[in-house]
Amino acid sequence: MTKEFDRAVFESTLTKRFFYVPSFSIYGGVAGLYDYGPIGSVLQQNLINIWRKHFVIEEDMLEMDGAIITPSEVLKTSGHVEKFTDYMCRDVKTNEVFRADHLVEGILEMRIEESKLAKQAASGEGAGAEKAKKGGKGKVPKGAVVLSEEVEKKYEEILAQIDNFNGDQLGEIIKEYEIRNPATNNEVTEPVAFNLMFDSSIGPTGNLKGYLRPETAQAQFVNFQRLYEFNNKKMPFASAMVGKSFRNEISPRAGLLRVREFTMAEIEHYVDPLKKDHPKYEEVKEIHLNFLPAEVQESGSSTTVSMSIGEAVEKKIVNNQTLGYFLGRIYLFLAKIGIDETRLRFRQHMSNEMAHYATDCWDAEIKSSYGWVECVGCADRSAYDLTAHSRRTGVNLCAQEELEIPIVYDALVCVFNKRLFGPKFKQNAKKIQEALEALPQEQLAEIKKELDSAGKCSASLGLPEPVEITSDLLTIEMQNFKKSVREYTPNVIEPSFGIGRILYSLLEHSYYTRPDDASRTVFAFNPQISPIKCLVLPLLTGPAFSASLNHITKTLRSAGVAARIDDASSASIGRRYARNDELGIPFAITIDQLTVSENLVTLRERDSCQQIRANVDTIINIVIDIVNGKSSWEDVLKSHPTLSSDS
Ligand code: AMP
Repeated sequence: MTKEFDRAVFESTLTKRFFYVPSFSIYGGVAGLYDYGPIGSVLQQNLINIWRKHFVIEEDMLEMDGAIITPSEVLKTSGHVEKFTDYMCRDVKTNEVFRADHLVEGILEMRIEESKLAKQAASGEGAGAEKAKKGGKGKVPKGAVVLSEEVEKKYEEILAQIDNFNGDQLGEIIKEYEIRNPATNNEVTEPVAFNLMFDSSIGPTGNLKGYLRPETAQAQFVNFQRLYEFNNKKMPFASAMVGKSFRNEISPRAGLLRVREFTMAEIEHYVDPLKKDHPKYEEVKEIHLNFLPAEVQESGSSTTVSMSIGEAVEKKIVNNQTLGYFLGRIYLFLAKIGIDETRLRFRQHMSNEMAHYATDCWDAEIKSSYGWVECVGCADRSAYDLTAHSRRTGVNLCAQEELEIPIVYDALVCVFNKRLFGPKFKQNAKKIQEALEALPQEQLAEIKKELDSAGKCSASLGLPEPVEITSDLLTIEMQNFKKSVREYTPNVIEPSFGIGRILYSLLEHSYYTRPDDASRTVFAFNPQISPIKCLVLPLLTGPAFSASLNHITKTLRSAGVAARIDDASSASIGRRYARNDELGIPFAITIDQLTVSENLVTLRERDSCQQIRANVDTIINIVIDIVNGKSSWEDVLKSHPTLSSDS
């Protein structure tokens, strides 16, 4: 496997083989927009298909597809118009724009690194000393400052909490630690909030304002009643949606990790706030995850703790079973597609960091050469969105529970003498009546007491003046009630997947170079996710070979197995294997003289370079079975001896 990851070589392979490239590059390109080529787009599609099977089908979720263009009223209600912001600052002279937290983070990390190298150079030991001797690329930078232990510790503390600062706090840090534009050394302005939504207008008048959706969630929330009815009014249940979302990122960087247009796969799991246990919790309870709780980060540390989901829920580190269940399912999904489990952790949001709608949130973070990056967010949005949309539209977005034992209770109610009440309070009558009806029982009891004893009372009802009420206008009576339905606004647990980020992490985790030849790069995609499943290599040309080639490719393709032919006879077989290993193709069938004479072909597995030989149709069926997850290469080797290995 690759010893040191070389991102430049890795990225040039991705571009050269058209996995994905910057969009509109012949026009100079636009930051944060990417086009996926034949490998990237199918890899994404396979990833989504596995996601669909793992979540939508296995969890019986209700998938839907909603509009991208969203009227501003919806996003005002959801809080995005006011609060979906990041902090931005500018170079005071050049106007270059930075995302404030990223600027602080980059500079502090750089200072710590430079200090480390400078210390090593001074002591004559370690990488810093080597670099100081060699000079050139990676040498100890001129003017590197050796930080005192105290300052370094402070920097580490700031970095551990970098997502937790608001604009003012970032402004103070920028001033206190003299953070400047690293390219010009100019000062930067105070951070200001910048809304990340792309706005637009709908229709020709320009009067109806809209936005490109920043998440798929709102389209699901506004359809809650229909989804609930579709589910025969059974709770809990989940809706799901896959589609593009748009965020006008301040400074997109790190390739696919921070872009302006990306595919999201979101689940909204609706649950009774009083019953946040999960029927399938037992299935994930024993899974161990690496947790990084908010408390640990707030103490300035980023050390993870490994524990079972069961223990984390019991200790209330993870708030409830449903949240724990989804963390487990997210882990299983990421492991299934090929993410390296040792480079996966679950980090809890700190209090200030939480999105405006969330009460608890855990991110599945994956480590790549860019560091730890959130790839899946798993938030408890409580009843925030459904309550807000219901209030704004007047549409009931509640669930109902039939009570097994009806609740019987007594309550005070207002009985108005309508003949006198209206004429007495005129245009204020409706307001006063509603205010009285909304009063809590204790207050009604007090008013009743006064009306019964004095025949009148003065009530403060949220109007400019207290209201004088007399017993001929209003009687307060105790009545008996029976309630057989409990109505509540569901809470929402939302696992939200950024497909591009997962895809990029998977590319890094799958990439390696052959130990005997660093120029031979390989993507170790598993057969389920690999865009092309099987390479077909005819070693000679002629009608007999063409017939076998056609038979193999036709049979594979009609079974839904993508097959690629490499028949460039000018290239050696080793060269042909190598250039297709670079596309991550797990299997290669080679057609040679023995195919014509004895109907035999060889099958090579990409990572081990092991080969077996068997009858054409046997080999075709082996490939189909492995791709469909019915068997594995290890299973096949039990009944087929390997030939001598040929890379
Ligand atoms: P959020 O709603 O901010 O929690 O985002 C949900 C998921 O979308 C994250 O876990 C990321 O995987 C993904 N995501 C958010 N912003 C971006 C972006 N600018 N570029 C790529 N993926 C993103």
